This record gives sequence, structure tokens and C-alpha cells, in this order.
Amino acid sequence: MRIVMIGTGYVGLVTGTCFADSGNDVTCVDIDQRKVDMLNRGEVPIYEPGLAEMVQRNSKAGRLTFTTDLAEPVSAAKCVFIAVGTPMSDTGAADLTYVMKAAEAMAPHLKPDAVVVVKSTVPVGTNRKVLNLLREKTGREVHVCSNPEFLKEGCAIDDFTKPDRVVVGVTSPEVGEVMRELYQPFLRTDHPFLVMGLESAEMTKYVANCMLATKISFINEMANVCELVGADINDVRRGIGHDQRIGFSFLFPGVGYGGSCFPKDVRAMEHVAAEKGFTTELLKSVDAVNDRQKNVLFNKLKKHFGDLQGKKIAVWGLAFKPRTDDIREAPSLVLIRSLLEVGAKVFAHDPVAMENVKKEFGNRVTFCSHHYEALDGADALAIVTEWNEYRTPDFGYIKHKLKQPVIFDGRNLYDPAKMAREGFTYNGIGLTAKP
Ligand code: NAD
Repeated sequence: MRIVMIGTGYVGLVTGTCFADSGNDVTCVDIDQRKVDMLNRGEVPIYEPGLAEMVQRNSKAGRLTFTTDLAEPVSAAKCVFIAVGTPMSDTGAADLTYVMKAAEAMAPHLKPDAVVVVKSTVPVGTNRKVLNLLREKTGREVHVCSNPEFLKEGCAIDDFTKPDRVVVGVTSPEVGEVMRELYQPFLRTDHPFLVMGLESAEMTKYVANCMLATKISFINEMANVCELVGADINDVRRGIGHDQRIGFSFLFPGVGYGGSCFPKDVRAMEHVAAEKGFTTELLKSVDAVNDRQKNVLFNKLKKHFGDLQGKKIAVWGLAFKPRTDDIREAPSLVLIRSLLEVGAKVFAHDPVAMENVKKEFGNRVTFCSHHYEALDGADALAIVTEWNEYRTPDFGYIKHKLKQPVIFDGRNLYDPAKMAREGFTYNGIGLTAKP
């Protein structure tokens, strides 16, 4: 099938590449000339495990091309995907400017039987807006399909090629069949292909992200209470997780959720409801709990040291989660900002996200090429992102490098009893020393 993918970010590039890998002829279009030039040289502008090799292989085979000009590829395409960003606007609503611009740009070139697929996360009603705009611009009926994406950065290729489910929202069964054909190679293990109306598909994506964000804020709040009452969240987590109605997934306490999706999608859902005169009390709290949680490490540091002026703090992990270089809404940024405001010195490490953080803080932060290097003479270590390479460090070496053996672990990577034996003052999230 001939496919055009508009937008070559985390979602568009992965989706386009995976479709090319299953034998389709894919053209990826982006307005960012720098990205397109890099991709044409075989370089991948984002960090996503396995993606660079897959892009290069499919480009070489001639199934995957990159351009800034959509006219020609759109005029030959059966499916035109919109995978541009839908960032949060000042009001909290999703900003649909990029989606509508992409729709407007493709309109004059669309084939009569083409299917326009909205993959970007968009609030209820957006697919119909796109449909109406395309009807108006082309002067004929157009097929529009909602196909929200559930991949996770860091394991995006696996998530896309082995999806838990594929959701498509359609206005006619024929469009559902075109999409089923396209997704067939990824559904061989009988994962569900769910066809529904446009509004339900749009809503499904937001409800999924709101549910996941709610789980995170819930367990974070419970962890904070555990600390106050002398309970241990890890024991409590096990205690509840074996209940099959609850389960274990997504119930790890930490420093709050970040990234390009949960924060903006929770706010966008609140906004959609508010437009209908409904207040989403729960989501307001999910959001507020998360904002508070992003300060949890800073508050613990302040409590421990009193005055942080001149203190040197080593920060391990900057990306909003491991295996990505994405720092959008990352908790690390909140911590670093607070530390710099009170005059602390920050020595930071991340395996892949340092370049992005450099753009934000420049030389106000010292970036270290190895995580141990950040520890030299530091007053404490703060762990923000749970990269695998931080999980089993040489504790003797850490102790030797730190000025004082103090760790603030925002991801509960280590066993508190072991840390006590090693002579560390170890502060996790919701942990209590066992008797
Ligand atoms: P991104 O910011 O990484 O990429 C968006 C790309 O679109 C950019 O390269 C930008 O230059 C390009 N673009 C903007 N306007 C364009 C236009 N008119 N024509 C061509 N290109 C244009 O965004 P992302 O993280 O890939 O997210 C895209 C959408 O997918 C969002 O709606 C997001 O909510 C959703 N989503 C993201 C994830 C994720 O993990 N990142 C997961 C699921 C869904």
C-alpha cells in the first residue's frame, strides 16, 4: 500500500518505518528541513532503541523516503496519516493548529478514494473537524479515520509491531477493512482489532492515558502517606497487587509522571469536559498530585540539608523515563530548576538526554559523561530516572566519591536494608526501614 506519514516525530517515524518494514511504500513528510535532511542521510533525529537500523534498512530497500513536499506522495497515496504534535495550549486544551494545517495542505492532492488517518492524539470532535475541512476544500466526500497510537517511547517498535490492540474509529465499514489490511501483519497473534465510531476512538486514547496517570498519582499519594505512618510502600504494593482486581502494573511510586502525553492529555480531557459544563474532579486531583510529586526529591533534600546554597548535588537520569531522550515535562527539570534557584550546584548525567537538557540550562548545569563522574565531591546523589545502568552500581565506589554517603532515590532502585548495611543514608519514596 502507498502511505504518506505527515510528521516524523516519535510516533510518525516509528509508525512509518514499521509500515515500510511490513512491505508498504511509505513517504514520511515533515516541515522541519533539518530532520528531513538528517533522515535522508540515514541519521535518526530521536533516540529510540532499534529505530536507526530499521530506518536505514528500509530506506536502502527503497520502501521508506523522506521529504518536506507532500504534493506528489499524497497524490499517489491510499492512506495519508496525520502524526503531528498536539501540544498543550495556554488554556490546557490540545493545540490543533498542526493537525488542521496538515489537513489543509494535503487537501488539493488527495486521491478520491484515499483514507485520511488521524494518528495524533486529538480531543473528541477533531476527526469530524478534519472531515468537514476536507469536504469543504475538496468539494467531495472524503474518508477520515481515527487511529490513536498507544506505543511507549523506549519500546516503541515492539509496542507498534505487537500491539495489545488496534483501535480504529470510522464512519464506514469499508474504511475499517482498509485499516485491517494495513495492520494485518501486526495482528497475527490474534490481538484485537477494534472498530468503533470516531468519537469513541478519540475518547479511548484519552481515557487510557487518564487511567494510567491516575494510577501513578494514586500510588504516589499512598507512598507519601506510607512515609508518614511508618509503612513501606513496597510491602503495601505487594499486598494489594496479588488481588486480581488490582494487579501490579503501573503501581510503582516515583517522582511524578512527565513526557509529552500524560500531562497534556489529562489537561485536555479536563478541558473537553469543562467545555460541556462538567468538572472532572478526579483528573484535577491527579494533575495536582503529580505537580506536588515532582517536588518530592527537592523537598527531601531541603529537609535533610536545611540550606542548599553551595551544596553540590549529583543528579542521575534526566529523561522523563528510561530508554528515551525525551525530556518534555520531565521531573528532572523541576528538580534542577529548584536546586539552581536556591544556589545549589548540579552535576548531571543521563545516557542519552543530556543534549536536550543542555538546551534548557546551558552551562548552569555541569554535564558529566559518566554517572560516577557526577559524584566527585557531591554532598548527595539524587536519582530521577531508572536507567538500567544505575540499578547495580558499586556502592563502595559511590561512598568513596560522595562527600557524604547520602542518596535520594526517586525510583526506589535499591534495597533499604542493604543501603543501611553499606552505611548510606538512603531516602526512597514511601520506604520505611524494616524491623
Ligand atoms: P513530535 O513533536 O515528536 O513530532 C511531531 C512532528 O510533526 C515534528 O517533527 C514536526 O516538525 C512535525 N510537523 C508539525 N506540523 C507539521 C506539518 N504541517 N507537516 C509535516 N510535519 C509537521 O510528536 P510525537 O511525540 O510524535 O507525537 C505526535 C502525536 O502522537 C501527538 O498527538 C501525541 O500526543 C501522540 N502520541 C505520542 C506518543 C509518544 O510517546 N510520543 C504516544 C502516543 C501518541
